[in-house]
Amino acid sequence: MTDSEADVVEQDWVSRLADEVVAESQRRAPGRPVVCASGLSPSGPIHLGNLREIMVPHLVADEIRRRGIECRHLLSWDDYDRFRKVPAGVDPSWAEHIGKPLTSVPAPPGSQYASWAEHFKAPMLDALTELGIEVDGISQTERYTSGAYREQILFAMRERAHIDAVLARYRTLEAVPDDDGPAGGGPASDGPASVDTASVDTASADTASADTANPDYFPYRPYCSVCERDLTTVTSYDDDTTELTYTCACGHQASVLLSEHSHGKLVWKVDWPMRWAYEGVIFEPSGVDHQSPGSSFVVGGQLVQEVFGCTQPIGPMYAFVGISGMAKMSSSRGGVPTPADALAIIEAPLLRWLYARRKPAQSFNIAFDQEIHRLYDEWDALSRKVADSTALPGDLAAYGRATGTAAGELPSTPRPLPYRTLASVADITMGHDEQTLRILSDLDPDHPLGSLDEARPRLTCADTWVRTQLSPDQRTVVRDEPDTELLSSLTDDQRAALRLLVAGLDEHWSLAGLTSWVYAVPKIRAGLPPAAKARTPELKAAQREFFVLLYRLLIGTDTGPRLPTLLLAVGLERARALLD
Ligand SMILES: [Zn+2]
Repeated sequence: MTDSEADVVEQDWVSRLADEVVAESQRRAPGRPVVCASGLSPSGPIHLGNLREIMVPHLVADEIRRRGIECRHLLSWDDYDRFRKVPAGVDPSWAEHIGKPLTSVPAPPGSQYASWAEHFKAPMLDALTELGIEVDGISQTERYTSGAYREQILFAMRERAHIDAVLARYRTLEAVPDDDGPAGGGPASDGPASVDTASVDTASADTASADTANPDYFPYRPYCSVCERDLTTVTSYDDDTTELTYTCACGHQASVLLSEHSHGKLVWKVDWPMRWAYEGVIFEPSGVDHQSPGSSFVVGGQLVQEVFGCTQPIGPMYAFVGISGMAKMSSSRGGVPTPADALAIIEAPLLRWLYARRKPAQSFNIAFDQEIHRLYDEWDALSRKVADSTALPGDLAAYGRATGTAAGELPSTPRPLPYRTLASVADITMGHDEQTLRILSDLDPDHPLGSLDEARPRLTCADTWVRTQLSPDQRTVVRDEPDTELLSSLTDDQRAALRLLVAGLDEHWSLAGLTSWVYAVPKIRAGLPPAAKARTPELKAAQREFFVLLYRLLIGTDTGPRLPTLLLAVGLERARALLD
């Protein structure tokens, strides 16, 4: 690569943001590691749409590490947030826990984990590991209950009139509640674009829609020491003694010293900027729902500057990531597509590529339907260009970010056979290993597979895709017996074409060989040379008609997997039996 090419590579969005973040970090905190941050709420299964909250900072942090600069990627788990609602599929008796911190709610029935929060964190952490994403996980429960934020909480309480005045500007503007949901951005973890019931849930103190500062405004809410819920109202606070008195909807009333009390938290709109200041966050993007006027990112920017005396992180908005064509999921699994579901059908480098190749402000869909074949075709085409050094610089950069990190290359499939072929083979063999190995070796007889492991993990993904995303009417079922009725109704011309095809199967028994042979038979029947390039409309029609006949005889439908793959999967003997 020449210097000028290297310059162009630097221009991808990840590099540009990394330049900005590194420069800003050197200005704000010279000599300290760069801090990038993400936030997620383990309030339920973590929606695949929320992966962008992690991927954008990850790609930037990874670019910074590739430059040899120390960089932390914090993943703040908002596990000290209240349990808001019982998701579908969970015992309705869990409603008694609404209002408790997520770490104090028992895990769903049958879980091996100690709490609701741990249960939903675990699969996400596994997915991040598989994606090659290294984060510093921070439990907000651990932070708050250990007293780590003691000084920040006392400070926020002293500054409550100031905080309230800042919040009041936005309340009069938009009447947005101060607790519009946990960090994490993008779609909330319990469904796309749901900031849902936050305004209802957060009750009293911090939702007072005041035109003027409210003397009863307190940015801190204790969890009740009796019922553990946050249905509390602070009734008084003494700055000198730090004595705080609260009442709870359960009837409990208590006075605690905030200088010692560790069972409560700052309201979200104050919590987020406090943490920016506490951690020295330089880069934290957020979803479109956090960036409107009066939203937590905008208000947080005011608070962190005016009250906490720090600067807001660089925080570009990232657009929505949709999911298309996913088969309906059982509600016992939360009815929500998760990163683990995507990784079951798409290899980690491809999933990374979807994020790396698009700027954060561009939205896109992750395909669970037939589009997945096109995605894989595009990826394989790019891989070939990278291999023969013809990839464009931007594409090459995205490919590099997809296939590895500063820590090294991600695992890949040694023999990356076309996904659509693997899916067809898995479909027809129903995952039968011996049959699959035979068919995959027949694809290119000069380079047979030593074992199925050479085709994995891509083969496993394609097999899972067939089993989980294809409906029964989309599955291919090879006929057990010849369709004698159809065979006896054939014209002489059709019969002759079939005989010609069958006679040449053995000689052309490979993916490439059968591909040319199935097209050649109608050419020969039309009196053309088998290698003739020009396709007249008449020839196209004849080929189409011939292929439909083959599909009907082999699988009883008009269409199906590509014919060469289908023939290889059916096998030579059975193909002869069904076609002759
Ligand atoms: Zn209570």
